[in-house]
Amino acid sequence: MSARHVDRRDPISGEGAALFSTDALWCAEGRVVEEFVMEQPIPPYLFAFAVGELGFREAGEALFGPYEWERFDLLVLPPSFPYGGMENPRMTFLTPTLIKGDSSGAQVVAHELAHSWTGNLITNKTNEHFWLNEGFTTYAERRIVEAVQGEDRAALNIGIGWRGLNKEMERFKDNLEVTKLKTNQEGVDPDDVYSEVPYEKGFQFLWRIERQVGRPAFDEFLKKYIATFKFQSIDTDTFLDFLKANLPGIEKEVDLILWTEGTGIPPDAYEPVSSIYSKIVSMANEFKLGRMPREDEVADWQGQEWELYLENLPKSIEASQILELNSRFRLSESKDYEVKVAFLLLAIASKCKEHYVEVEKTLKAVGRKKYLVPLYSALVEGGTGKEEEKILAKRVLQRRVTLITP
Ligand SMILES: [Zn+2]
Repeated sequence: MSARHVDRRDPISGEGAALFSTDALWCAEGRVVEEFVMEQPIPPYLFAFAVGELGFREAGEALFGPYEWERFDLLVLPPSFPYGGMENPRMTFLTPTLIKGDSSGAQVVAHELAHSWTGNLITNKTNEHFWLNEGFTTYAERRIVEAVQGEDRAALNIGIGWRGLNKEMERFKDNLEVTKLKTNQEGVDPDDVYSEVPYEKGFQFLWRIERQVGRPAFDEFLKKYIATFKFQSIDTDTFLDFLKANLPGIEKEVDLILWTEGTGIPPDAYEPVSSIYSKIVSMANEFKLGRMPREDEVADWQGQEWELYLENLPKSIEASQILELNSRFRLSESKDYEVKVAFLLLAIASKCKEHYVEVEKTLKAVGRKKYLVPLYSALVEGGTGKEEEKILAKRVLQRRVTLITP
């Protein structure tokens, strides 16, 4: 626990002398004094401080208004924690898989922080309106990423989401109810229909409104929305009534009923435009024609670039191509689980058995559902010819169950 921050103020003439500083330096233009209080006495070697541009909370406040929860702490849990993060007010829980040596893990922190407004301040009334929590938070996450990490990072993040949304439409083609924003979940276990739809379609809906009214007007609307409904639970109709009252005529420009009650992806949803995003997607398409990326083309790729590339590759790659891709870029050994799992899913789809040891290790090493569900599903889905994969899945699962049941 850190010392308590009590004030941010202008320097006072003379007070710098105790720290061997002159007034000219202490009170120079642009200088501020940050005051902290530590209630317990400590020896000097235990005094430590970290300085950095943390930025996320300020970006969140610029978007939504004041942070209402005083503290924002992060607790990194053991690898068995099943989620990326959980936005418990004042103390977000995180999976250790986010610590991977680049800035992409920070996007989950941005997401959980954004829940301090959308989700924790304004909560969906029931799970049928879950998109009010997650769509807004995904929108806010990307605005924070854009402000702190730049437009290209935000576009990559949106692109990965767009890809995910399209995959969900395929997954639920026989259960279209789940592809609506406002769903009917009577008699349904919310875990059975958990998907990216409330996140990504919700994001697309809000992004569509932003494009219609322009960012300044939408930002003003967001602040008013938070201020009006904070510490309340609301449903989709309450949101839509407020939207129509505050952005008059919006229902004539954007089909609000189609977006909230319709199935599938509305025609005015939008794939992001960014040079990095388009380049990666076209490189993935070239793979279908047999072209692998060159070392220099991927030299500065971080986890998200690889994730997007792998997600856009065709699912029916030859096992020999998987082996070549890995011998060049060592993706199966990536410290970034997003990359490693995207690669292992391709390996399973291509029945590239050389990588099954790594699949087994991964299933045993982490508990994050985002990785386990697709890996287990890939192993057991598909009819004949998958016997070895099914045996592997059962064997690992049985051992995991024995470990976690007392
Ligand atoms: Zn969330």
